[in-house]
Amino acid sequence: MDLSIVIPLYNEEESLPELAAWIDRVCNAAQIEYEIIFVDDGSTDASWEVINKLVSSNHTIRGIKFRRNYGKSAALNTGFRETKGDVIITMDADLQDSPEEIPELYEMVKEQGFDLVSGWKKRRHDPLGKTLPSKFFNRTTRAISGIKLHDFNCGLKAYRSKVIKNIEVYGEMHRYIPVIAKWAGFKKIGEKVVEHQKRKYGVSKFGMERLIKGYLDLLSITFISKFGKRPMHLFGTLGTMLFFIGFVIGIYLTVAKYFYEVYKMTERPLFYFGLLAMIIGSQLFVTGFLAEMISRNSPDRNAYQVEQKIGF
Ligand code: UDP
Ligand code: MG
Repeated sequence: MDLSIVIPLYNEEESLPELAAWIDRVCNAAQIEYEIIFVDDGSTDASWEVINKLVSSNHTIRGIKFRRNYGKSAALNTGFRETKGDVIITMDADLQDSPEEIPELYEMVKEQGFDLVSGWKKRRHDPLGKTLPSKFFNRTTRAISGIKLHDFNCGLKAYRSKVIKNIEVYGEMHRYIPVIAKWAGFKKIGEKVVEHQKRKYGVSKFGMERLIKGYLDLLSITFISKFGKRPMHLFGTLGTMLFFIGFVIGIYLTVAKYFYEVYKMTERPLFYFGLLAMIIGSQLFVTGFLAEMISRNSPDRNAYQVEQKIGF
């Protein structure tokens, strides 16, 4: 199988037949052997019935239905587990991403050797309330991850199979798949400018809360990939530093009181800074120990990305 197309959807009944027919047309013209995996994320409209019809008329289409709505990341992760293609393309179900991009994305992974190619909606047809926060989001993610992409959250992306088989997407982490892939050691990450349409049917499934969740998820990903297997290195360093600063302040104040000063030590603001630093410092330290105990028990404490083995 050349290509698996994973499409997460939540209440997109109107778009699905059009999308499936369009993908079929494009892939046949480009002579790509493909499969479509629709992941119905607990839709409450007729999406699943529509998928059933599509499956019975086209043997390259498969469908998975969640019992309830778990979110786009969950849908993608589940779809990924089922793919058989050498290349995997994800796209949104709402026809905002154009299937016309498929052949070129496929070619970039297959022929040009990219591990991951992200779409870039350079000309976007979304309201300002969405594009503006998105600029900020992309800039922050670029700075923290060091990956030079313009549009991390683009639903249209292509992957080498081994990338998605070796990473896990959960929560709302679908926005950060390039970051997760990079931490997992996949280096060749590319970008392609893609067409973007206005939403034709239905409504957007994400509101303003995506800003807060997106920000928190970025912090979690960064923390887990850097310190997930050695949390004490972060908490211990911070805790020791803070405690030390507080301790030095305490010594200084004590010495100052007995040798130079007449007024009370507790009347100096520095006293409270010192006290606070020592308390917070020791709390961070203890947090580090707790985190170590938790990570020792976590099932993936020794999950490393093995690229190759030889001579076994
Ligand atoms: N989606 C999903 N589960 C959800 C929310 C969204 O599977 O809980 C799907 C949705 O049906 C669409 C894609 O994720 O195929 C992108 O969602 P949407 O178009 O609403 O996002 P936007 O384009 O507004 O960023
Ligand atoms: Mg959309």
